[in-house]
Amino acid sequence: MKAIGLIGGMSWESTAIYYQQINQAVREKMGGLHSAEIVMHSCDFAEIVSLQQQGDWDAMAGKLAAAAQSLERAGAGCLAICTNTMHKVAAEVQAAVNIPLIDIRDVIGEAIEADGLHTIGLLGTRYTMEQEFFRAHLAREWGLKVLTPQEEMYGVVHEIIFGELCQGIVSPANRVRMTEIISEMAKRGAQGIILGCTELMLLLSQDDSPLPLYDTTTLHARALVSYAMGEDAHILPASHAVLAAV
Ligand code: GLU
Repeated sequence: MKAIGLIGGMSWESTAIYYQQINQAVREKMGGLHSAEIVMHSCDFAEIVSLQQQGDWDAMAGKLAAAAQSLERAGAGCLAICTNTMHKVAAEVQAAVNIPLIDIRDVIGEAIEADGLHTIGLLGTRYTMEQEFFRAHLAREWGLKVLTPQEEMYGVVHEIIFGELCQGIVSPANRVRMTEIISEMAKRGAQGIILGCTELMLLLSQDDSPLPLYDTTTLHARALVSYAMGEDAHILPASHAVLAAV
Protein backbone atom coordinates (compact mmCIF):
# COMPACT_ATOMS: atom_id res chain seq x y z
CA MET A 1 0.00 0.00 0.00
CA LYS A 2 1.29 3.44 -0.94
CA ALA A 3 1.57 6.14 1.72
CA ILE A 4 -1.08 8.84 1.27
CA GLY A 5 0.09 12.46 1.46
CA LEU A 6 -2.51 14.87 2.83
CA ILE A 7 -2.27 18.65 2.52
CA GLY A 8 -4.77 19.48 5.23
CA GLY A 9 -5.78 21.93 7.91
CA MET A 10 -8.18 23.81 5.61
CA SER A 11 -9.90 23.49 7.94
CA TRP A 12 -8.73 20.86 10.41
CA GLU A 13 -12.41 20.12 11.17
CA SER A 14 -12.63 18.31 7.83
CA THR A 15 -9.06 17.01 7.76
CA ALA A 16 -9.88 15.08 10.95
CA ILE A 17 -12.73 13.42 9.02
CA TYR A 18 -10.39 12.53 6.16
CA TYR A 19 -8.04 10.87 8.66
CA GLN A 20 -10.89 8.88 10.17
CA GLN A 21 -12.49 7.89 6.88
CA ILE A 22 -9.22 6.84 5.23
CA ASN A 23 -8.39 4.59 8.17
CA GLN A 24 -11.95 3.27 8.31
CA ALA A 25 -11.79 2.32 4.62
CA VAL A 26 -8.48 0.51 5.11
CA ARG A 27 -9.95 -1.38 8.06
CA GLU A 28 -12.97 -2.40 5.95
CA LYS A 29 -10.74 -3.61 3.12
CA MET A 30 -7.94 -5.26 5.09
CA GLY A 31 -9.45 -6.01 8.48
CA GLY A 32 -7.74 -6.61 11.79
CA LEU A 33 -5.34 -3.95 12.95
CA HIS A 34 -4.52 -2.61 9.50
CA SER A 35 -4.50 1.16 9.09
CA ALA A 36 -3.42 3.59 6.41
CA GLU A 37 0.07 4.95 5.96
CA ILE A 38 -0.44 8.71 5.98
CA VAL A 39 1.89 11.67 5.95
CA MET A 40 0.32 15.05 6.49
CA HIS A 41 1.15 18.72 6.20
CA SER A 42 -1.47 20.64 8.15
CA CYS A 43 -1.60 24.36 7.34
CA ASP A 44 -2.45 27.21 9.69
CA PHE A 45 -5.86 27.97 8.20
CA ALA A 46 -5.91 31.60 9.34
CA GLU A 47 -2.90 32.30 7.09
CA ILE A 48 -4.64 30.66 4.13
CA VAL A 49 -7.91 32.54 4.70
CA SER A 50 -6.04 35.82 4.87
CA LEU A 51 -4.34 35.10 1.52
CA GLN A 52 -7.73 34.07 0.04
CA GLN A 53 -9.20 37.39 1.14
CA GLN A 54 -6.28 39.24 -0.48
CA GLY A 55 -6.71 37.15 -3.64
CA ASP A 56 -3.04 36.14 -3.48
CA TRP A 57 -3.43 32.72 -5.12
CA ASP A 58 0.23 32.72 -6.23
CA ALA A 59 1.36 32.81 -2.60
CA MET A 60 -1.04 29.98 -1.76
CA ALA A 61 0.19 27.96 -4.75
CA GLY A 62 3.75 28.40 -3.46
CA LYS A 63 2.82 27.30 0.06
CA LEU A 64 0.92 24.22 -1.09
CA ALA A 65 3.58 23.28 -3.63
CA ALA A 66 6.22 23.40 -0.87
CA ALA A 67 3.97 21.26 1.34
CA ALA A 68 3.54 18.75 -1.50
CA GLN A 69 7.31 18.52 -1.99
CA SER A 70 7.84 17.87 1.71
CA LEU A 71 5.25 15.06 1.60
CA GLU A 72 6.94 13.54 -1.43
CA ARG A 73 10.29 13.63 0.39
CA ALA A 74 8.60 11.99 3.40
CA GLY A 75 7.59 9.02 1.24
CA ALA A 76 4.06 9.80 0.04
CA GLY A 77 3.08 7.82 -3.05
CA CYS A 78 0.15 10.07 -3.90
CA LEU A 79 -1.21 13.42 -2.78
CA ALA A 80 -4.48 15.05 -1.84
CA ILE A 81 -5.43 18.68 -1.26
CA CYS A 82 -8.11 18.25 1.43
CA THR A 83 -10.26 21.17 0.31
CA ASN A 84 -12.23 21.97 -2.82
CA THR A 85 -11.39 25.66 -2.83
CA MET A 86 -7.65 25.13 -2.91
CA HIS A 87 -7.99 23.06 -6.08
CA LYS A 88 -7.77 26.44 -7.71
CA VAL A 89 -3.99 25.88 -7.44
CA ALA A 90 -4.06 22.13 -8.17
CA ALA A 91 -2.07 22.45 -11.40
CA GLU A 92 0.77 24.32 -9.66
CA VAL A 93 0.86 21.73 -6.87
CA GLN A 94 0.93 18.83 -9.34
CA ALA A 95 3.70 20.50 -11.33
CA ALA A 96 5.90 20.70 -8.21
CA VAL A 97 6.05 16.95 -7.56
CA ASN A 98 6.54 13.60 -9.30
CA ILE A 99 3.73 11.78 -7.49
CA PRO A 100 0.11 12.00 -8.64
CA LEU A 101 -2.32 14.46 -7.12
CA ILE A 102 -5.72 12.79 -6.77
CA ASP A 103 -7.92 15.66 -7.86
CA ILE A 104 -11.16 16.03 -5.89
CA ARG A 105 -12.93 17.36 -9.01
CA ASP A 106 -12.21 14.17 -10.96
CA VAL A 107 -13.27 11.96 -8.07
CA ILE A 108 -16.61 13.74 -7.88
CA GLY A 109 -17.01 13.88 -11.67
CA GLU A 110 -16.48 10.15 -11.89
CA ALA A 111 -19.04 9.43 -9.13
CA ILE A 112 -21.68 11.58 -10.83
CA GLU A 113 -20.98 10.06 -14.24
CA ALA A 114 -21.33 6.57 -12.76
CA ASP A 115 -24.83 7.52 -11.56
CA GLY A 116 -25.75 8.88 -15.00
CA LEU A 117 -26.57 12.43 -13.88
CA HIS A 118 -26.03 15.42 -16.18
CA THR A 119 -27.17 18.50 -14.25
CA ILE A 120 -25.74 19.00 -10.81
CA GLY A 121 -26.02 21.67 -8.10
CA LEU A 122 -22.87 22.93 -6.39
CA LEU A 123 -22.54 24.19 -2.82
CA GLY A 124 -19.18 25.49 -1.63
CA THR A 125 -17.26 28.59 -0.72
CA ARG A 126 -17.84 31.75 -2.72
CA TYR A 127 -14.58 31.04 -4.57
CA THR A 128 -15.71 27.54 -5.57
CA MET A 129 -19.21 28.59 -6.63
CA GLU A 130 -18.24 31.81 -8.38
CA GLN A 131 -14.94 31.11 -10.09
CA GLU A 132 -14.19 28.87 -13.05
CA PHE A 133 -11.72 26.33 -11.64
CA PHE A 134 -14.36 23.95 -10.25
CA ARG A 135 -17.38 24.37 -12.51
CA ALA A 136 -15.40 24.60 -15.75
CA HIS A 137 -13.36 21.52 -14.84
CA LEU A 138 -16.54 19.48 -14.31
CA ALA A 139 -18.04 20.78 -17.54
CA ARG A 140 -14.90 20.21 -19.60
CA GLU A 141 -13.70 16.87 -18.22
CA TRP A 142 -17.01 15.29 -17.21
CA GLY A 143 -19.61 16.97 -19.44
CA LEU A 144 -21.65 18.21 -16.49
CA LYS A 145 -23.98 21.17 -16.39
CA VAL A 146 -23.26 22.79 -13.01
CA LEU A 147 -25.85 24.96 -11.26
CA THR A 148 -25.07 27.17 -8.26
CA PRO A 149 -27.46 28.80 -5.76
CA GLN A 150 -29.04 32.18 -6.58
CA GLU A 151 -26.25 34.73 -6.42
CA GLU A 152 -27.67 36.46 -3.36
CA MET A 153 -27.26 33.18 -1.46
CA TYR A 154 -23.50 32.86 -2.15
CA GLY A 155 -22.68 35.00 0.88
CA VAL A 156 -24.99 32.97 3.13
CA VAL A 157 -23.37 29.64 2.17
CA HIS A 158 -19.86 31.14 2.38
CA GLU A 159 -20.53 32.55 5.86
CA ILE A 160 -21.96 29.25 7.16
CA ILE A 161 -18.72 27.57 6.03
CA PHE A 162 -16.17 30.06 7.40
CA GLY A 163 -18.15 31.53 10.33
CA GLU A 164 -19.46 28.22 11.64
CA LEU A 165 -18.41 24.87 10.14
CA CYS A 166 -14.68 25.64 9.94
CA GLN A 167 -14.91 26.62 13.61
CA GLY A 168 -16.73 23.46 14.65
CA ILE A 169 -20.16 25.11 14.96
CA VAL A 170 -23.18 23.26 13.52
CA SER A 171 -26.46 25.17 13.52
CA PRO A 172 -29.80 23.37 12.96
CA ALA A 173 -31.32 26.62 11.66
CA ASN A 174 -28.69 26.80 8.94
CA ARG A 175 -29.30 23.16 8.08
CA VAL A 176 -32.88 24.13 7.24
CA ARG A 177 -31.65 27.12 5.26
CA MET A 178 -29.31 24.94 3.27
CA THR A 179 -32.13 22.47 2.54
CA GLU A 180 -34.16 25.36 1.12
CA ILE A 181 -31.24 26.34 -1.11
CA ILE A 182 -31.00 22.74 -2.35
CA SER A 183 -34.76 22.63 -3.06
CA GLU A 184 -34.48 25.82 -5.09
CA MET A 185 -31.73 24.25 -7.23
CA ALA A 186 -33.90 21.13 -7.64
CA LYS A 187 -36.65 23.34 -9.10
CA ARG A 188 -34.16 24.63 -11.68
CA GLY A 189 -33.29 21.10 -12.78
CA ALA A 190 -30.48 19.91 -10.52
CA GLN A 191 -30.54 16.10 -10.29
CA GLY A 192 -28.04 15.92 -7.43
CA ILE A 193 -25.95 18.19 -5.21
CA ILE A 194 -22.20 18.35 -4.78
CA LEU A 195 -21.21 19.13 -1.20
CA GLY A 196 -18.28 21.02 -2.72
CA CYS A 197 -16.75 22.09 0.54
CA THR A 198 -15.17 19.50 2.78
CA GLU A 199 -16.95 20.79 5.92
CA LEU A 200 -20.50 20.68 4.52
CA MET A 201 -20.89 17.02 5.48
CA LEU A 202 -20.70 18.16 9.11
CA LEU A 203 -23.99 20.01 8.55
CA LEU A 204 -25.86 18.01 5.92
CA SER A 205 -26.63 14.34 5.54
CA GLN A 206 -28.75 12.58 2.93
CA ASP A 207 -31.84 12.86 5.15
CA ASP A 208 -31.69 16.66 4.87
CA SER A 209 -31.81 16.71 1.09
CA PRO A 210 -34.51 15.99 -1.50
CA LEU A 211 -31.69 15.27 -4.01
CA PRO A 212 -28.81 12.77 -3.81
CA LEU A 213 -25.77 14.33 -2.16
CA TYR A 214 -22.21 13.88 -3.44
CA ASP A 215 -20.00 14.48 -0.43
CA THR A 216 -16.52 15.43 -1.61
CA THR A 217 -14.86 14.53 1.71
CA THR A 218 -16.09 10.94 1.78
CA LEU A 219 -15.64 10.29 -1.92
CA HIS A 220 -12.12 11.80 -1.92
CA ALA A 221 -11.04 9.82 1.17
CA ARG A 222 -12.28 6.56 -0.39
CA ALA A 223 -10.65 7.31 -3.74
CA LEU A 224 -7.34 7.90 -1.98
CA VAL A 225 -7.51 4.51 -0.33
CA SER A 226 -8.45 2.81 -3.59
CA TYR A 227 -5.52 4.45 -5.33
CA ALA A 228 -3.08 3.70 -2.51
CA MET A 229 -4.14 0.05 -2.63
CA GLY A 230 -3.69 -0.12 -6.39
CA GLU A 231 -7.41 -0.57 -7.16
CA ASP A 232 -8.43 2.58 -8.90
CA ALA A 233 -5.90 3.97 -11.37
CA HIS A 234 -8.76 5.15 -13.62
CA ILE A 235 -9.59 8.08 -11.30
CA LEU A 236 -6.47 9.76 -12.63
CA PRO A 237 -6.81 11.96 -15.71
CA ALA A 238 -4.92 10.61 -18.72
CA SER A 239 -2.01 13.00 -18.14
CA HIS A 240 -1.21 11.19 -14.89
CA ALA A 241 -1.45 7.67 -16.24
CA VAL A 242 2.28 7.44 -16.88
CA LEU A 243 3.08 8.45 -13.31
CA ALA A 244 0.58 5.90 -11.99
CA ALA A 245 2.21 3.13 -13.95
CA VAL A 246 5.71 3.87 -12.56
N1 GLU B 1 -12.80 23.17 3.21
C1 GLU B 1 -13.42 24.09 2.33
C2 GLU B 1 -13.46 23.58 0.90
O1 GLU B 1 -13.53 22.40 0.70
C3 GLU B 1 -13.15 25.52 2.47
C4 GLU B 1 -11.87 25.91 3.11
C5 GLU B 1 -10.94 26.56 2.14
O2 GLU B 1 -11.14 27.72 1.84
O3 GLU B 1 -10.04 25.89 1.68
O4 GLU B 1 -13.50 24.34 -0.04
